[in-house]
Amino acid sequence: MEASKLVNDFTEDLLADLDALLVTKPENVRYLTGFEHPEDAWVWVDGGGILLVTTPLYANPLRERTLPHAIERPQRWPELLRERARGRVGFEAAHLPYARARSLAEAWPEAELMPTEGRVEALRRIKSEEEKSLIVRAMAIARTAFLAVRPEIRPGLTEEDFAASLECAMRRRGAEDRAFATIVASGTRGAYPHAGASDAPLPENGLVTVDWGARYRGYHSDVTRTLALGEPQPELARAHRAVREALEAALAKARPGVPVKELDQAAREVLAGYDLLDYYPHALGHGVGLEVHEAPRVAIESDEVLRPGMVITLEPGVYLPGLGGAREEELVWIGENGIEVLSEGM
Ligand code: ZN
Ligand code: ZN
Repeated sequence: MEASKLVNDFTEDLLADLDALLVTKPENVRYLTGFEHPEDAWVWVDGGGILLVTTPLYANPLRERTLPHAIERPQRWPELLRERARGRVGFEAAHLPYARARSLAEAWPEAELMPTEGRVEALRRIKSEEEKSLIVRAMAIARTAFLAVRPEIRPGLTEEDFAASLECAMRRRGAEDRAFATIVASGTRGAYPHAGASDAPLPENGLVTVDWGARYRGYHSDVTRTLALGEPQPELARAHRAVREALEAALAKARPGVPVKELDQAAREVLAGYDLLDYYPHALGHGVGLEVHEAPRVAIESDEVLRPGMVITLEPGVYLPGLGGAREEELVWIGENGIEVLSEGM
C-alpha cells in the first residue's frame, strides 16, 4: 500500500479539529502505514504528515521503505514525540489505556489530550481494490481448505478435531492465522450462536454449523455453512430452510445506496413468516477487513447505507434451545453497480 499517499489524501479527515492524532490501535496503524508489525508501533499524524514509530526490532525491514519512520525503544516514544505534541492531540480512547493516556499527558506538557473514537475506522469502511484482493485471497484460502477437509465430516468425529483439520488446512494454504477461533456447533450445541468447538462427537442425525475464516496479510474472511448429517429433526430442517430463505431475501436487497436496515428487515420478514423471529437474537452482519468485525454494522437499528467498496457479511441464524440451530453466512463485496458474493463456491 502506498501509505504516504493514502494518508495525505485523508489527513484532513483524520485531524479535523485536532492538531495531531496519535494512532495506537494495531489495525489502524497497519491501515495507515501497511506496516506488518503494528502491535509494536504507533502512528503520529499531524500537519507535517505521518510518522511511524517503532522499535529497533524492525529497523531492517524499514530500511527498504519510503515510509517516514522513527526507531526507538518504546519507553522513549513519548519523549521522541514531545516536540510535535502541541495543541489539541487526539488519542484513540477505545484503545489506549487510561494509565497510558495519563502518563502521556505528563510527558507532553504543551499538549491537550483529546479522546477520539472511530476516526480511522470510518475510513476503513470503504476498501480499495488492493484491500479487496487481500480479502478475496483470505476467502479463497478458507474456501479451498474447507473443500479439502469437508469429506472428513462424519458422525463420531469431534467438533474440535474438525476445527483443527480446517485450521491446519488454512495454514497450509497460506493463511497467517485463523481469522477467529473456528466455530463447530453440532446437535444441541447449534443453539449457541458462538459455540466454539467442543469435544462433542458429530451426531448421526442432525445439523452442524461451521463458522470460520482465514487471515491473510492482516485481512480476514468470514463465512458459515450449516451441514446436514443423516436426517436432521424436522424442526431443524425447517429452521435451516428458513435461514437460507432469509439469506436469499437479504442478498436480493443488497446493492449500493440501500440502507443496511432494509437487508435485516428482509431477513426478519422471512423468519417471521416461519414464526421463528424470536429465535434470531443477533444482527444480520458486519463489515470485514483488518478486523473480523468492523464497520458497518448490518442491523435493523443501524443508519448505515451500503456504499461501493464495503465488504460485509450477511448471516441470519435460528437457534432453538435444547434442539439445535442453523446459520448461513456469505461474505459480500459492494461494487459500483451491484454485489459480488465472495464466499461462493461451497
Ligand atoms: Zn462468521
Ligand atoms: Zn460474521
